This record gives sequence, C-alpha cells and structure tokens, in this order.
Amino acid sequence: MDVDIVCVGFGPAAGGFLTTLGRELVNPDGTPKLESAVVPGMPPQVICYERADDIGFGVSGVVTRARGIRQTFPDLDPSQIPLATPVKHEKVLYLLDPIGASRRSAAVRVADKLIRAFKWALPIEEEALELPYIPPYLRKEDGLLLSIGQFNQWVGSRLMTEGTVQLWPGTPVAKPLIENDRVVGVRLLDQGTDKQGHPEAGYTPGMDIRAALTVVADGPVGAVGRQLDERFGMPEDHHRRDWAVGMKMVVNLPEDCALEPGTVLHTLGYPEPEIFGFLYVYPDRVASLGIFVPSWFDSPIRTAYRYLQHWMLHPYMWRYLQGGTLRSWGAKTLQESGRRGEPHLVGNGYARIGEGSGSTNVLTGSGVDEAWTTGAQLAEAVIELLKARKAFTQENLEAAYVKRRRGSWVESEGRIAEKARDGFQRGVMTGLIGMAIAGATKGRLSLPVKLREPSEHLPGFDAYYNGRIPPAEVASIRRQCAAAGTSAHSALMDRAGWPAIPHDGKLLVSHQDALLMGGKVQAPAGYADHINFLYPQLCEACGSRICIEICSGQALTPGTSGVPSFDREKCIHCGACVWNCPTSHPEDPERSVIEFCAGAGGLHSAEN
Ligand SMILES: Cc1cc2nc3c(=O)[nH]c(=O)nc-3n(C[C@H](O)[C@H](O)[C@H](O)COP(=O)(O)OP(=O)(O)OC[C@H]3O[C@@H](n4cnc5c(N)ncnc54)[C@H](O)[C@@H]3O)c2cc1C
Ligand code: SF4
Ligand code: SF4
Repeated sequence: MDVDIVCVGFGPAAGGFLTTLGRELVNPDGTPKLESAVVPGMPPQVICYERADDIGFGVSGVVTRARGIRQTFPDLDPSQIPLATPVKHEKVLYLLDPIGASRRSAAVRVADKLIRAFKWALPIEEEALELPYIPPYLRKEDGLLLSIGQFNQWVGSRLMTEGTVQLWPGTPVAKPLIENDRVVGVRLLDQGTDKQGHPEAGYTPGMDIRAALTVVADGPVGAVGRQLDERFGMPEDHHRRDWAVGMKMVVNLPEDCALEPGTVLHTLGYPEPEIFGFLYVYPDRVASLGIFVPSWFDSPIRTAYRYLQHWMLHPYMWRYLQGGTLRSWGAKTLQESGRRGEPHLVGNGYARIGEGSGSTNVLTGSGVDEAWTTGAQLAEAVIELLKARKAFTQENLEAAYVKRRRGSWVESEGRIAEKARDGFQRGVMTGLIGMAIAGATKGRLSLPVKLREPSEHLPGFDAYYNGRIPPAEVASIRRQCAAAGTSAHSALMDRAGWPAIPHDGKLLVSHQDALLMGGKVQAPAGYADHINFLYPQLCEACGSRICIEICSGQALTPGTSGVPSFDREKCIHCGACVWNCPTSHPEDPERSVIEFCAGAGGLHSAEN
C-alpha cells in the first residue's frame, strides 16, 4: 500500500505531530489544502500505526508544564480531559527508612542520623522530611496533572473526529523498509504464525506500507527505532546507558484522604535511596502514584513491584493510601539518557520524534510535553516541505525539522540536563549534588564522571548481601527459587529484613493479581513472541538472571534449559528486560542479548 506519510506509534509525540499536521491538510470546505502524491486530487494520505490494541495505551504519571501542549491548544480547558487538573501544591520529600531494611551507603546513613538528631527543628512528619526548597527546574507550577491514557485517548478521538489522518491501533510495525540507505516505509507484523514466527493456518504476511516519509514515534524501546540505530549507528559520543523502569498505579484514595486535587508529591530516599517516587492527585479522590528503578541502581535485586508496595507502606504515604483501592497498574521504560541518547534525528525518508529521539529531560523529570513539542515541530517542517514541494531528503529534513528543534526550548533545556545526572554513577548523594550544580549553573558545570554501561553496575548477589546473608544461603535461596520456577528477589528481600506485604486484596495485592486487576493483559494468538533470547548459550552461563528479577509482569521465569522462559500472556511490554540484561551483545557492546521486537497485546488501561 502507498501513502504519503506513515507514522509508527501513537504516544504524545505522534499526538503532537498528527494534531499539528492534520489541521493543515484540508480547507474548511473539505477541499485539499495540500495535495497527495499517491492519490492525486486528495489531501496527503497520513496513517499512524499503534501496537497496542487501543489508542489510550500509555503508562505514565504526568505532571507537566504543558507549554507545547498549550501552544497547540491555546484554549485548552483541562476539565474536558478526564482526570486532568491544574497543579496546586508541590512537595519534595526525603523518606527515612522506618524499618531498617533499606541498603544505605555511609553518606546516606550520616544524612539520616543528622536529620533524626535535628528532628525537633526540621519539618519532619511520619518519617519524612519536607525539603524547604524546590529548585525552579523541578517546579511545575501553572502546569497540569494528566492521565497519559486519558490524554492520548482525548487527542486520538479528536483526530478521528476530524478525519484528516488515520489511526490504526492493534497494528504493530515490524520493521522499517530500507532501500539504498533510504527509508521507504514500514512492514507490518506477520499474522497467523506460531510463537516462533512460522506460518500457520490463516497466515497473512505483514503488509508493506510505502511512504515518502516515515515518522518514528515508537517511544523509549521501540523496535523500529532500535533497528534504525542498528543500521545507521548513533552520532559520535551518543549512547543510551541511562534507563529506568517506572511502575505506577492509579488508585481510589480513601474517602477521608486529606490530599487535595492538584497535589504533587515527589519522594526520594526510600525504599532504597536510589528509588524515586511520585504521587499526583486528580479530582474525585483519584491518584496516580509510582516509583522509578534506575539502571544505575547497583543491585541485582531490581524489582519494581515489591519496592512499589514498600514505598506505598512508608508511614508518610500510607496514611493517605490506607483504605484505598487499585484502579489500574502498569510499567514502562524511560530512556533517561535524554539529549545524549539522541539518535540521528533524520535521514533520507525518515524522521524521529519523542522519547526515542532523546527528547526526555532528566533534570526536570519531564517527557510528555517534550515529546509532544518535537512532534509539533516535525509537523511544521513537513507542512513547509510539502508547500514548497520539496522531497523528504535528509538535507531538507535537517533544514526544516532539526533546525527548528535546535532553536527551541526542548534543545536548550535538554542541553542543560545532558550531564546533570552523571553523578548518580557514583551514588545517590553525588548524584543529587551533580543535579544541583547542573541546575544552578544551567548546565555549564557538571561532575566529571564516566558513564558506565548498565552491565557494569551489577554487583554479584554475594557482594550485594555481604554482611547480611551468608553466600551459601544466598545460593541456596536462589537454587530453591529457580527450582520452583520463580524469581529470587522476594525470598532474598524477606531474608534481608523486608517485612512481608500485608495483602489486603484491594490495594496491596499480589503481583499476579495486579496483572488481573490493574488493566487488561492481552496476548492475541497468531503473532510471534516479541521477546527473543539471541544467544541461548550466554543465558545458560549468566550468573545474574536479572531479566527475571526485573520483569514487570512475571512473564520471565527460570526456564528448564537455563534460558529464561517467556510467557507473553503476562508481558506488559515495559521493555525493562532489554536494558537490564548485563550481557553484552557479541557484536555491539551497547546492546544486550535480549531482542525486543514489535508485538501485539500487553497491559492496557485507559487510566494509566
Ligand atoms: C511511570 C512513568 C511516569 C512518568 N512520569 C512523567 C511525568 O510526570 N511527566 C512527564 O512529562 N513525563 C513522565 N514520564 C515520561 C513520559 O511518559 C514519556 O516521556 C512520554 O510518554 C514519551 O512519549 P512518546 O510519544 O515519545 O513515547 P510513548 O509514550 O512511549 O509512545 C510510543 C508509542 O509507540 C508504540 N509503539 C512502539 N513500538 C511500536 C511498533 N513497532 N509499532 C506500533 N507502535 C509501536 C507504543 O505502544 C507507544 O504507544 C513518565 C514515564 C513513566 C513510565
Ligand atoms: S537475557 Fe541476559 S540477564 Fe537474562 S538470562 Fe540471558 S544473559 Fe542473563
Ligand atoms: S518480559 Fe515483558 S513485562 Fe517482562 S520485563 Fe520484558 S517487556 Fe517487561
């Protein structure tokens, strides 16, 4: 099939692109403003494919200054978007460890002792210190709280009503089509195959969609963007070594909860000092909350689910949450290298927007508005090129899109943030100091720290539990868990002093129940598995099996052959296994040995 423009993925970046472009394709009387090259006499044919089975897919708490979004919708009325509300109160809290199980460095322990010693003089409540000052770069005053799922759905519904562009959910894009170093479109995923991708009854090979311009908006771990990186490489000194998995819940707060709509709480310090948390309050006593587990967390026990529950149980949070109920749940990767993880933004026949293009700002903790804005910038560039009847060559896209982006706040703020978090490579305290320096000097100064690859962050289990659990016992626990076909983190955390989670069947539920209660996990038959272990022999020799520990959906479990077994009925497409795997791809040290392909299904909740 031939179209003029094909877009991969429907998140905020594609939302900004399609909304801005769609307005310039047709005159109010329905006649074309611009003409299609593939259907003469008609407006340009624009089609967007989204992997997930609805357009409201998304996993993100969202507090945003919404500058780009408001530029697109100058008369934006938040009450028109379900759950949206203006930001009212912001707090940053340092959470002390109330139970003594957290693994704290000497510097953090000293800080904790000082805070406790001066308790009488400090704003401490329920084992949490409210920081007296929020740096301007973190503040989101005048901003909005959004549910990403509801926002995407609101944007998507407007686009569908206007009808100038087409949205196709439930349609994963398998790969870019590349001819002579020019991207000429995309190929959709084969249907009617077994899990290994072999044709079965009803086999339909993925259709080729040829287009003059392919817009890649597939987010932090998108399969199409990754294939472009493999083919065209990254710009010099650019790499993606900083990641996080964000796990979140949307909850009904208890009736007597004192938190007002518009409240924004950001936390650090607990359950491990490396784990940051957030709670945003929407209208009608609904809240979005979650934590981030970063790639620089030097631990082989990287579990987001159990840590999220301990975070919720911290006395400061629990007094607001106790009695609440889970509405939805999810997890997703964040590409935290930001500007430094920027790939080639354009090439002949393609352009990249959104988080996969390095737009996320790790200093301001903001990705939605940046993604939206890069999409809108590309749309303006495309309109300019279409009006001038210029081809979508690398040169023309550089002049029209990249130049716009370089001249914008996304670029200038991305530059400030570029090295802001390097200090975290040496621990939390150094990281916070580095952020403060970069923020205060607008990025002119930063800590001179070499960025390690994720694989270099992993201490062995014995080293991590040194002094807490004897090595023989660690080995025995891991053996027992492997024999039972489960990950080991929960048993090891129990043994290291983390209390059992008091499941209440409403908010504190088992990981498996979260999969059932938190949204709908779908894994339609007829598609190949989207997680592949490229070098089984390397998995067999792997000491950490951290892909199993981090897995957000318990979709990866110890396999009988030594290679993890994958159950796509539980995979929520968070992408965390890919960058957590510490084993480098033999041909590319920046890649791991897990391949994350385009796939159907996943966990969807319109409220996330
Ligand atoms: C827990 C969490 C909390 C966050 N909190 C905030 C916050 O408070 N404020 C903020 O500004 N940002 C926040 N972010 C970051 C923000 O969500 C992202 O920066 C933003 O969603 C990026 O938008 P995007 O359009 O580039 O990518 P995405 O939102 O990732 O959208 C990409 C889309 O492409 C689809 N896709 C991928 N591959 C394919 C394929 N092969 N075929 C078809 N479709 C495909 C995906 O399904 C997805 O829908 C948070 C993120 C997380 C995980
Ligand atoms: S995918 Fe990576 S982490 Fe998982 S078993 Fe294989 S080598 Fe180990
Ligand atoms: S297997 Fe699926 S759910 Fe598990 S970490 Fe990988 S992408 Fe996430």
